[in-house]
Amino acid sequence: MEKDFEKLRQKMVKEQLIKRGIEDEAVLKAFRKVAREKFMLEKNREYAYQDGAQSIDAGQTISQPYIVALMLQSLGLNEGARVLEVGTGSGYAAALLAEIAKKVYTIERIEELALKASKVLEKLNYHNVEVKVGDGSLGWEENAPYDAILVSAAAPYVPEKLIEQLTVKGRLIIPIGKRNGIQQLKLITKKYRNKIKEENLEYVRFVPLLGEDSWR
Ligand code: SAM
Repeated sequence: MEKDFEKLRQKMVKEQLIKRGIEDEAVLKAFRKVAREKFMLEKNREYAYQDGAQSIDAGQTISQPYIVALMLQSLGLNEGARVLEVGTGSGYAAALLAEIAKKVYTIERIEELALKASKVLEKLNYHNVEVKVGDGSLGWEENAPYDAILVSAAAPYVPEKLIEQLTVKGRLIIPIGKRNGIQQLKLITKKYRNKIKEENLEYVRFVPLLGEDSWR
């Protein structure tokens, strides 16, 4: 079975990522390595390499591999990067980030998910990831500034604290739009002070970012 997953993973990288234009070698390498099935519900593991989001606990989702790859590629990470992820969910994106960057801080509002993700990441020996339970719409002040911030849930607007907690030239990826509807995936680059450049990437559909500086 493990062998089948390995084959399916390499096929997913070719057919879902490379064919759609993902070309960053560090991103592709991470996707070739990280076992998505380990972050899925036991009963859904056979669907680990299907081309879509899948259900995890607490009514949340593990995102579609292609969208995660596009987000990671757009962040333009290097080996020395310190990254914040908002919305740990299963921990899969955090593991991918940990393969590419130096240090990953990931914050999740649902304790049950944070605990489970933390256990999986520990078991897989990701020592460069810290998981915390909290409201990521306010960022994670203690470890700021970050070279990159990945928001894995959709918001009505870009939370101010996330911009504040980026380094100058730092990049932020966030889906912005309707709650439980279609959202625009945005790439934000911090210029100086809190001045930003905004680019639209793709239309996406993410679960909502719920918090003090987002939907309540
Ligand atoms: N990156 C995850 C993965 O690889 O499995 C998928 C994330 S899932 C699409 C979005 C997650 O964001 C959910 O687990 C949800 O509980 C979390 N979330 C929503 N609002 C949040 C907030 N204010 N702070 C932290 N996490 C939040």
